Amino acid sequence: MKSVFIEKPGTIALQDVPRPAAKPGEVLIEVKASGICGTDIHIFRGEYLGSYPVVPGHEFSGIVREVGEGVTRVALGDRVAVEPNIACDNCPACLSNRQNFCANWNGVGVTLPGGMAQFAVAPERAVFSIGSLPFTSGAFMEPLSCVLHGVQRTGFTLADRVLIIGAGPIGILLLKSILLEGASHITSVDKVASRRALAEASGAAATAGSLEGLPAEGFDVVVDATGVPALMERTISLVRPGGRVLLFGVPPGGSRISLDAFAIFRKGLTLLSSYTSVRNSIQAVRLLEAGKIDVSSLVSHELPLSDLGRGISLIEAGTEGVLKVMIRPDL
Ligand SMILES: [Zn+2]
Ligand SMILES: [Zn+2]
Repeated sequence: MKSVFIEKPGTIALQDVPRPAAKPGEVLIEVKASGICGTDIHIFRGEYLGSYPVVPGHEFSGIVREVGEGVTRVALGDRVAVEPNIACDNCPACLSNRQNFCANWNGVGVTLPGGMAQFAVAPERAVFSIGSLPFTSGAFMEPLSCVLHGVQRTGFTLADRVLIIGAGPIGILLLKSILLEGASHITSVDKVASRRALAEASGAAATAGSLEGLPAEGFDVVVDATGVPALMERTISLVRPGGRVLLFGVPPGGSRISLDAFAIFRKGLTLLSSYTSVRNSIQAVRLLEAGKIDVSSLVSHELPLSDLGRGISLIEAGTEGVLKVMIRPDL
């Protein structure tokens, strides 16, 4: 089969390798769609947890082609997506329902071979049926799971007025999820015009190209979906007294932010972050299947495996119109 390896930071190669087999408890999946995520780019640049060489791709869907001994919940031919975070279920974090902080964590596409290949294996417990969803939508199960985890941690209230900074794929998934929580108003901020248009089409009541001119203390909840330290710092002045701030975007490793400590005290703010997800895959698939969250407008490119490097460059360049780039190994 064909498989893309990040051999070491900065080096990508398409290789012919033997097709893996499903060992007991595992499922072999023919990959149909595999989204490129910011995390893949961090792994490509050597900025994240990846162990090299690695087959990247942790947001993927496909068809079950082989089931290992003992597999009971999925069957040959099932259309599925993969939850890439593999927790041990036997460390203090896992036993306290904090599987996202598992001491023995492995990640499909991070420390284990991922979905940027024609076939991938995953443990049965990481595999979820996507019914008749398009494969490119099923591949959103993982990023949507992370978004739902953040939304639940924040605890929205009916009729909240919300500011979301960033209208890339994650910003839009946040927008759609927060609308489902009953927000009465969402302002979406992005410097890219096409992204602002998409935010409007996705239900934002207002958009802006920058934070200048937004009402101070104008929002019940402010969400940063950029991870840009200079923008994260601005959240404190935009949220109302007693409000909540969700720092969702992934900042560069080692970066620092400077916050107005007295304002945080005086305003009685709740500051939240969110790391991956905890048992949100079924929720994500249900919302996708029910059409409550439609991700079709988020896929800007569908490229063959050999174009993974080009896909990464498109995202890195931040070219107008680039949203989620899907790799389709069958192209
Ligand atoms: Zn991801
Ligand atoms: Zn664990």
